[in-house]
Amino acid sequence: MNVSSSSDKRVRFTPVFSLINEAKSKLEVFKYKIIVMSGKGGVGKSFITSMIALGLALRGRRVAVMDADVHGSSIPLFLGIQGERHYANERGEILPVEGPLGVQVVAVNLMLDSPETPVIWRGPLVGRAIIELVARVAWSPGEYLLIDLPPGTGDAAITIAQVVPSITGAILVTAPNALSETIVAKAASFARSYKIRLLGVVENMSYFKCPHCGAITNIMGETGGEKLASKYDTIILGRIPIDPAVNEALDEGRPLLLAKPKSEASKAILNLVDKIIGIVEGNDS
Ligand code: ADP
Repeated sequence: MNVSSSSDKRVRFTPVFSLINEAKSKLEVFKYKIIVMSGKGGVGKSFITSMIALGLALRGRRVAVMDADVHGSSIPLFLGIQGERHYANERGEILPVEGPLGVQVVAVNLMLDSPETPVIWRGPLVGRAIIELVARVAWSPGEYLLIDLPPGTGDAAITIAQVVPSITGAILVTAPNALSETIVAKAASFARSYKIRLLGVVENMSYFKCPHCGAITNIMGETGGEKLASKYDTIILGRIPIDPAVNEALDEGRPLLLAKPKSEASKAILNLVDKIIGIVEGNDS
């Protein structure tokens, strides 16, 4: 976006098609581009995206996360970088914030005066902002780019599907009670219509393991997720327990995988990350 001279106060926008081309070429620096989706909010999508990013970094991969959930993402919180802010370089490009283990993070929340400031944008503006966000960032090369999408298959999801070149695949995050046939079906048909591979489903808040006796309780109910996933030609990538350590780490302002590496949730997340690496990088050989 360019602001014209002082005599002409109108804002001149770069034409969308050239921005889209710029966005596409900027993202060539990543080998694998994965979008993270959910059917509804509150199932832990931002938490799972952040932890997959950190887990990949723990496994030695260079990772970036783009927060396209402009209204509801908490990526900076889960990575413990809520107090950081984006800066621009001399070319006016946005510099990603460097998170733990060198994870590059780009988030609208990190451009606001304060994290409590609401983002009041209508759909078309969200789409435009996302294209600008992708096109105007000085990304450093890496193996993985994870894109955290808002719940559902609305403007942001469509924009990302159109702008991001050769998406490696989509991960659907859900909770057992939200793992309905309709949600998996919607995600599967969204992915199919944009020729994006559905890598699989992450069932978050899947169970609770008693820290005293080790008994497992399915607090949110059982879903028959495997059956549902296979019906839509996908798989369950992992099941992450409800774990008090998640919110304890959040309260400490530190990422779970680094603050509580021995927690049940951390162990399950690392298994999930290894599975993702196996599927994504297994295709290379
Ligand atoms: P979404 O992005 O789907 O809206 P968030 O990632 O913001 O959801 O998570 C919503 C809330 O649930 C957060 O307070 C988060 O700490 C909590 N949460 C997510 N996953 C777990 C889990 N496995 N165990 C305990 N709390 C969790």
